[in-house]
Amino acid sequence: MNTPADTDATSSTAPRASSDKLLFTPGPLTTSMTVKQSMLRDLGSRDEEFVGHVKRIRQRLLALAGVSQAAGYETVLMQGSGTFAIESVVSSVIPASGKLLAVVNGAYGQRIVQMAERHRIPATVIRCAEDQRPSLPAIEAALRADPGISHIAVVHSETTSGIFNPIDVIGRLVRSLGRVLIVDAMSSFGAVPISMAEWGVDFLVSSANKCVEGVPGFGLVIARREPMLASEGSARTLSLDLQAQWRGLEGNGQFRFTPPTHALLAFSRALDELDAEGGIEGRARRYRKNHETLVEGMRALGFDPYVPADCQGHIITTFPFPKDPRFTLEDFYQRLSRRGFVIYPGKLTQVDCFRIGNIGRLFPQDMEALVTAIRTTLGEMGIQR
Ligand SMILES: *Cc1c(COP(=O)(O)O)cnc(C)c1O
Repeated sequence: MNTPADTDATSSTAPRASSDKLLFTPGPLTTSMTVKQSMLRDLGSRDEEFVGHVKRIRQRLLALAGVSQAAGYETVLMQGSGTFAIESVVSSVIPASGKLLAVVNGAYGQRIVQMAERHRIPATVIRCAEDQRPSLPAIEAALRADPGISHIAVVHSETTSGIFNPIDVIGRLVRSLGRVLIVDAMSSFGAVPISMAEWGVDFLVSSANKCVEGVPGFGLVIARREPMLASEGSARTLSLDLQAQWRGLEGNGQFRFTPPTHALLAFSRALDELDAEGGIEGRARRYRKNHETLVEGMRALGFDPYVPADCQGHIITTFPFPKDPRFTLEDFYQRLSRRGFVIYPGKLTQVDCFRIGNIGRLFPQDMEALVTAIRTTLGEMGIQR
């Protein structure tokens, strides 16, 4: 097997050096060796050192979101993958008398609708095509028509396609109409500047293993305190009770149930490495360069991105299949994987696509190596471009 990771010599702060395949996926991601090494500890969940880590992580997350406790914001860490943290918010902050408006242009928006259904939360859905931004007038009309809608949920970087939804304008609209905004910023937080206060985001949800480049194990919620506490008593589950989790973390600094201690150690280290890279702006620069390198290389091979350039984000890129009967995703995927490159199958509703992530400890030369591997693989498969 060709192991591109062995030849990595890119970042001065965080070497990757391992013979694992490179993950061009939206999570789990390729992480730095130093992030992995930081987990070689066993800390007790009530231990002072561990509690200190958790406290600092929560403070640093507020700073990354451009807010503070003094300005009325709180951080809650929640065990599980990113979906658990989203479900924690959806199932905890909408009161029994409330109603959700879900804006959907991909699978992650649809997942929020499923959560509302499962918890029997009344919901209205605004849908649009996966390669289009949601319509602002439609959102405004829905909110004006139904004063019962108390909360709106929207995905920032819809990882299904790679589109960026305009959270800033949606947020200002939602705030001007006096409703509460929940944003799934899973695949954008850490690599796309977000001004929660300015944009009017009340709940922002992400996870340890996306753009911050930690390892999987927990999700994070940055919440405006007022709407979080206003909905106290609305939680529909015990383990995902957002307010109870917050009270635990604020009270004695501990998780209510066994915390992912190793993932939290890795996350502390990952935050250091994010700082060393120049924070969110620095990381955004690398990912943007990854994206540009990929798109340029793929265009030369005859692949055009599925999402129009004006709303394409720099996190993940979707490419429609080549129109050649010899192309099957399974074969393409396996051949690339044997070369050391793991891509991400994508099932959009309208078109057959594959997806390539630009995030994690990946660099422009990795994107070039991937494009070269794709060229060779297509040649082997006898696919004409
Ligand atoms: C990754 C992701 C999630 C959460 O997925 P998990 O598999 O539960 O971590 C949610 N929303 C978006 C937009 C994502 O990219």
